[in-house]
Amino acid sequence: MLSGAFRRSGIQMKSKLPPMVRIVEVGPRDGLQNETNTVPTLAKLELIGRLRHAGLKRIEVGSFVSPKWVPQMADTPDIVRNLGLIDKAISLVGSNAGGGDAVSQEANTEVSYSALTPNMQGFEHAVELGIKDVAIFGAASETFSQKNINCSVNESLERFQTVCDAALSQGVRVRGYVSCVLGCPYEGDIAPQAVADITSRLLKMGCYEVSLGDTIGVGTPHSTSVLLDTLQERGVPTDRLAVHFHDTYGMAVANLVAALERGVSVVDSSISGLGGCPYAAGASGNVATEDVVYLLDGLGVRHGVDLAKLLEAQVFIDTVLSRTTGSKVAAALAERLDLSAAHAAGIHARALPEEEEGGGGGAAGGGEGAGGGGGQQDVHRGGHGQYRNESSPGRAPERPDCAKVQARGNCECADQPLRNLWLATELFFNLEK
Ligand SMILES: [Zn+2]
Repeated sequence: MLSGAFRRSGIQMKSKLPPMVRIVEVGPRDGLQNETNTVPTLAKLELIGRLRHAGLKRIEVGSFVSPKWVPQMADTPDIVRNLGLIDKAISLVGSNAGGGDAVSQEANTEVSYSALTPNMQGFEHAVELGIKDVAIFGAASETFSQKNINCSVNESLERFQTVCDAALSQGVRVRGYVSCVLGCPYEGDIAPQAVADITSRLLKMGCYEVSLGDTIGVGTPHSTSVLLDTLQERGVPTDRLAVHFHDTYGMAVANLVAALERGVSVVDSSISGLGGCPYAAGASGNVATEDVVYLLDGLGVRHGVDLAKLLEAQVFIDTVLSRTTGSKVAAALAERLDLSAAHAAGIHARALPEEEEGGGGGAAGGGEGAGGGGGQQDVHRGGHGQYRNESSPGRAPERPDCAKVQARGNCECADQPLRNLWLATELFFNLEK
């Protein structure tokens, strides 16, 4: 039973909450970048497809940064090159998985794949491949900037100004990130005024939106409120802000409510809470998209995302990564929605291309069967063995298809990307039939 006090505060809150929130899915970039296991390109594409299928319209797909810095993002050009396949599959399936409400219909017109472009080289590459939405970043902490990108906050902004100018002259949108807005691993507390300064500068440089990142997840609803109040007092328009919470201390959802109460209506999140915190080993990553969706549903705030389909995306990526979900909501709903691991295997089995049953008749299957070898089997046994154990007795313990995806990504599939990418997009396409 809800207490009277809770209900009262709920009513009060509702009057101040935005009617609609846009979720920016950062799992394929921010999330996967901070996972220790590298995800094959094909699986990343399927993940993005599944996220689109769940109704997400703004997805950060990668980072045009040197692979030496961030090896997990080395395949970003391949991802971007093949986004058209996902669009094609989605257009065949029908994209407004969010239930055809006003949000999803409105949002249908604004699908946006974005990528981080920390320098001109990355920017030019991204734009050449068709990216129309890029992101740059600055830190609210001088020490963090020095340690993270080896230059002062001022120097970083000067560098990004060039990217901004080029983007604006080419009709490309630029999003700004500010890191360490609620705390820094080196400096501790960060003055809200420092965040206001850099946020204003990013907006003046031409960013259409600035995402406030609690990079190390130390914020609380109180510090979140103080920060946003300071920004408002300093004249920063709330409708140009997004919030980006990490769940290191379990405060992300609470912080989110505080931000919504102050009128913020753009929220970054990561499927299954992908990611982590480089400054706290083993810590939670970004706030999970499933948790955000559940929260918004509970608050009566529209978002246009289908939670059941989101959970399928979550099962998929957690299977690929052999990882336990970082989403409380996904963990709680796994059984109720029959999205247990065994069911996940069933989903994948249903989506298997027929060539697999045909004994390697198809191009991809044949190549894989022939070249299979011990390495791929090991991937399967090591990474996905737990799903076999949990399979229902009546069902053959099929190899989950993600293992095949993984195997393809690791072997000959690189030679025939088109065919295999189409198979990947077909995986969720098939779910609709
Ligand atoms: Zn993040």
